[in-house]
Amino acid sequence: MAHTPYPESYYAASANAVPPRPALQDDVETDVCVIGAGYTGLSSALFLLENGFRVTVLEAAKVGFGASGRNGGQIVNSYSRDIDVIERSVGPKQAQLLGQMAFEGGRIIRERVAKYNIQCDLKDGGVFAAITAKQMDHLESQKRLWERFGHTQLELMDQRRIREVVACDQYIGGMLDMSGGHIHPLNLALGEAAAVESLGGTLYEQSPAVRIERGANPVVHTPQGKVRAKFIIVAGNAYLGNLVPELAAKSMPCGTQVITTEPLGEELARALLPQDYCVEDCNYLLDYYRLSGDKRLIFGGGVVYGARDPANIEAIIRPKMLKAFPQLKDVKIDYAWTGNFLLTLSRLPQVGRLGDNIYYSQGCSGHGVTYTHLAGKVLAEALRGQAERFDAFADLPHYPFPGGQMLRTPFAALGAWYYGLRDKFGF
Ligand SMILES: Cc1cc2nc3c(=O)[nH]c(=O)nc-3n(C[C@H](O)[C@H](O)[C@H](O)COP(=O)(O)OP(=O)(O)OC[C@H]3O[C@@H](n4cnc5c(N)ncnc54)[C@H](O)[C@@H]3O)c2cc1C
Repeated sequence: MAHTPYPESYYAASANAVPPRPALQDDVETDVCVIGAGYTGLSSALFLLENGFRVTVLEAAKVGFGASGRNGGQIVNSYSRDIDVIERSVGPKQAQLLGQMAFEGGRIIRERVAKYNIQCDLKDGGVFAAITAKQMDHLESQKRLWERFGHTQLELMDQRRIREVVACDQYIGGMLDMSGGHIHPLNLALGEAAAVESLGGTLYEQSPAVRIERGANPVVHTPQGKVRAKFIIVAGNAYLGNLVPELAAKSMPCGTQVITTEPLGEELARALLPQDYCVEDCNYLLDYYRLSGDKRLIFGGGVVYGARDPANIEAIIRPKMLKAFPQLKDVKIDYAWTGNFLLTLSRLPQVGRLGDNIYYSQGCSGHGVTYTHLAGKVLAEALRGQAERFDAFADLPHYPFPGGQMLRTPFAALGAWYYGLRDKFGF
């Protein structure tokens, strides 16, 4: 049977040691079969186990093989769409619920790390950096909005103040969120998987779900086994392919790329990011970066619509890094990789149920580290019969991409080109 390893990344190279996990080769029975061992799947599994469900997780490759083991590691609160836009689309009551949940994912991560003693270099503090006056205005209104929903740990920064936390001359100001922060993303996923097993959950790797037999007693088939379950949670996100055609139709996998420098040494690292906060800029096609535990710069940016793997990642991302930090011109790049996130047309996550017993969450469109942890909790609540928060997400309106699966990539690229121009010329 095909064995899919991790892509070559800094995270795979610095992953905590874990025992090998078997592929499913049997017929097994469980309460909930979770498809995908990224944060959505693992968070769902953990909340369900903590509430007495029996859980079996099927992972096509390895724990954290997808975006959860490759991302920028930035704990960014809220969603990929502003809450006032959400409010205009869904009305005040639903917006209130969604707004209250906007900072919960970061809390869940910190609780998990503490409760299960997960070694993942957790650091507090995330900066949104404004390059234009318009972006700064937007941050100011964002702060007011978030405070309206009870999120008050935010500090606006002027040009002098932001220069104290990041040695980049591009920024005219920013906003610091001390409930944001950063983690080694693969080690977080591996720690969560170990927690799943410590609670009696079962995890199979190299076990892709290849078919779902729907009905009152659904069955998930893998190449060499099957799982009979009362419920199924589909958590394959951008790596799901066409397993569930209804989900593939309304979303689009997109690639984004990350590079990692050689270790910078304490002095240079502290000169760049003295407080060790993570940073993302406010462009539509944004750059994001932070220090690793061993003081490398991990820098990401760029989007490839349709998730084709670019030929030379370093050639695409290094110039962006040097634009922000020309002082790194002689620093070597040790790792470069790509990963896929799932874009929806509304840039809001898609959450719902197919029939009575197949649940899903996908498509957080960029910022997903916190949302996916929240999603696991909300899905587990729904399976326990408390669906108010699940419904707040499930009722969000969603649309298929114009042009269907054939034309969605050029249409989205056209949209991004337009927003790229807006970033560049500030209109
Ligand atoms: C390069 C990159 C950088 C990013 N940076 C950030 C960031 O800094 N901050 C942030 O908030 N967000 C970031 N994101 C987004 C964030 O990582 C994702 O939103 C989040 O990890 C998605 O988690 P997930 O569990 O839904 O999906 P994934 O982590 O992709 O997990 C899906 C899993 O399902 C498995 N799978 C798929 N199909 C099947 C099947 N048929 N059977 C069994 N298993 C299956 C896959 O192998 C995979 O392991 C980034 C994404 C990328 C790609």
